[in-house]
Amino acid sequence: MTIFWFRRDLRLSDNAALYRALTKEKEVQPIFIFDRDILDKLEDKTDARVSFIYDTISQIKKDLNHLGSDLWVYYGNPVEVWNNLIKKHKIDAVYTNEDYESYAISRDNRVEAILSDQNIPFKKYKDHVIFAKDEVTKSDGLPYTVFTPYKRRWLEKILSRGKTIQDSYYLKGYPTEKYFDQLKGSKTHQHLIPLTEMGFEHTSLAIPTSAVSQGLIKGYADHRNFPSMEGTSRLGIHFRFGTISIRQKAALASTLSDTYLSELVWRDFYSQILYHFPHVEKNAFRPEYDGIAWRNDEKEYDAWCQGKTGYPIVDAGMRELLHTGHMHNRVRMIVASFLTKHLLIDWRWGEHWFAKKLLDFDLASNNGGWQWAAGCGTDAAPYFRIFSPEAQTEKFDKHLIYIKKWVPEYGTAAYPKPIVDHKMARERCLAAYKSGLGK
Ligand code: FAD
Repeated sequence: MTIFWFRRDLRLSDNAALYRALTKEKEVQPIFIFDRDILDKLEDKTDARVSFIYDTISQIKKDLNHLGSDLWVYYGNPVEVWNNLIKKHKIDAVYTNEDYESYAISRDNRVEAILSDQNIPFKKYKDHVIFAKDEVTKSDGLPYTVFTPYKRRWLEKILSRGKTIQDSYYLKGYPTEKYFDQLKGSKTHQHLIPLTEMGFEHTSLAIPTSAVSQGLIKGYADHRNFPSMEGTSRLGIHFRFGTISIRQKAALASTLSDTYLSELVWRDFYSQILYHFPHVEKNAFRPEYDGIAWRNDEKEYDAWCQGKTGYPIVDAGMRELLHTGHMHNRVRMIVASFLTKHLLIDWRWGEHWFAKKLLDFDLASNNGGWQWAAGCGTDAAPYFRIFSPEAQTEKFDKHLIYIKKWVPEYGTAAYPKPIVDHKMARERCLAAYKSGLGK
């Protein structure tokens, strides 16, 4: 028997490692592990992402049952689960898709060690990104740290094997469905552990659909900056957990919107940054920024988290996040700049809050976004560029539609006074950054 292990690739179609397993091996048994090392750390027991994974896994299990097979689902520490699997079954090989986060890499190393003790090959494939780690590098082999040349090279590479982006070899799908007869047959189906037995309840948050209209992608460049419009795809959570194929969406985008395609390139860019510069997970990409004396006022942080700073565009964004698990990208930039620059609160505090609340939380993109806003990342906004919430509102929510949606008491006595004066905060920020950077 061969095992296919699902992780952040929760789909049966166009799945790189599943395709390889089905085409190279016989009796392919898919499994999924609810990882206690991750779940136990989640404070919110109604975490929408856990419900989303659970519902997706239930659906995959049903789909496999229809195909005469089954999904074996485990709950525990992955190393223990694998030790038990090896004891119980004769496993010929294990197939899975790569995950580039440091926790995942160390988990995979531990699992690989157990497997190799038994001479079981552990085969990993690229699926989550279009180009991984070392595929797009400078001519000297070093990783790019600036987006524009990275993107140029990314495009060259994709066109090096195809006349158009859409028909590039690198975006070719993997037709798994042709080989489903290689799935291990199963007459009885294993019982799926209820969500409550893992200590979680079902969320009340709505999950965005995985369908996106061609019209939206076509209009993306014109509409994407206005938070009151439905101008972005909301596919973040689906890219995160692999419930859609990045190759399919990139191929589609390439015919409809260069700007949308560019966002998908940012996603690859940050993924390779995290891989090559793992220190960014804890520290600034540019070490000199670790010298900034953050104020870290806890009351101000709470006001920011709850959307009560008295800056309406900031509060609207933070409340959108609280109520939906989503925040528009333009507003993410505004609130992140506000936290780090107006309030001089460590970008890691903001990163942490987003990691808790965002449905589409992704370590590489979140870290990249925060370091960009704080000025300490690759290709970051320069430290002296401090967004004015008022000017941003004038540009992107002129008629206050977004603000009024999320801050209904705006303009009444019930709305808080600004937590900090803009001009003073601006000068204080410049002074703190200059001093921290030794300028
Ligand atoms: P769309 O605008 O429709 O874009 C399509 C897809 O492209 C997104 O789903 C995403 O996968 C990718 N993408 C878009 N913009 C970026 C970007 N700047 N960097 C990397 N990928 C991008 N994105 C995340 O996926 N997870 C995060 O945790 C995350 N945290 C962020 C934190 C901050 C402070 C900032 C400024 C940005 C963050 N982003 C993050 C990037 C971006 O805001 C979201 O990807 C986007 O808002 C998701 O909404 P959407 O699916 O409608 O995106």
